[in-house]
Amino acid sequence: MRPRGRKTATELSPTGLLDWSAAAHWSAYARPCRYCGHPTYLRDFKGAPADKVCAEAALAEIVRIVQVHSAQGVL
Ligand SMILES: [Zn+2]
Repeated sequence: MRPRGRKTATELSPTGLLDWSAAAHWSAYARPCRYCGHPTYLRDFKGAPADKVCAEAALAEIVRIVQVHSAQGVL
């Protein structure tokens, strides 16, 4: 059983773009983005402050690393 709320790779958008239109992704208060440190009103799926573009870039990097390791037979 996977952790509640966590998406698997197959559940992610094929475009790599996240849908953060839900109210849960927005806060009334700006806090530093967990990736770049700039103030943001957005929150990731865990509720941590994160710019959408920063979260998408981080996910893309994870996917790239997994693909590289899979191609090398490491995973
Ligand atoms: Zn950011």
